[in-house]
Amino acid sequence: MRLDYLVSHSTGLSRKAVRSLLKAGRITVNGLPVSRAAYQLAASDQVCLDQDRLALPAHRYLMLNKPAGVVSASRDGEHATVVDLVAPALRRDLHPAGRLDRDTTGLVLLTSDGAWSHRITAPSSKLEKCYRVGLAAPLTDEDAQRIRAGLLLRGEQRPTAPARLEAAADQQWRLWITEGRYHQVKRMFGALGNRVVSLHREAIGPLQLDTALAPGEYRALTEMELDALSGVWE
Ligand code: URA
Repeated sequence: MRLDYLVSHSTGLSRKAVRSLLKAGRITVNGLPVSRAAYQLAASDQVCLDQDRLALPAHRYLMLNKPAGVVSASRDGEHATVVDLVAPALRRDLHPAGRLDRDTTGLVLLTSDGAWSHRITAPSSKLEKCYRVGLAAPLTDEDAQRIRAGLLLRGEQRPTAPARLEAAADQQWRLWITEGRYHQVKRMFGALGNRVVSLHREAIGPLQLDTALAPGEYRALTEMELDALSGVWE
């Protein structure tokens, strides 16, 4: 395994940040500073950042900026998947924790930890998801109120749960929902006779999509981000 891979995935730091740590001599292997990112580690090597021993977590927890055209699945016969965007060495058991439509962009969490993804996606988790929504037509105050209060979607018996909605720009809104019904955001605005023309997920609970990630890029979640999510469940 490459040294920069271990440092990046044990700390959640980008490869660029890891390169500066290596350059600064802050990464040691068996007590000696190593500056070469591609240095190949042996299984018994002890790697430290300053005084802290680094080790890969047992599972992988990643955030990805999903581009349009990619499906939120591990495998698909027709289209590229979110897992295909990840380096082969990280793919074992990797799956998305929740789905976005193929044309929706933004934050997708990927993990090899089934219990963790179940906690994120279980309806009982009521984790708030934030979407930036572009609409085909302006929204009246009355329509906005109906979205906030909850409305009945076609073919369903129960109205959507109360949601938060704020204007972001011209015909662009920010919507926070706690449910994950099938095509929920598109159907909510569709129920008002409007149409969603762009949809981008910005956050899941306390996890914000890292704006440094270009579409298709991903990084490991940091310890702080994992703790923030655990804090929601405690
Ligand atoms: N709601 C939708 O309609 N589509 C998504 O991809 C996510 C939420």
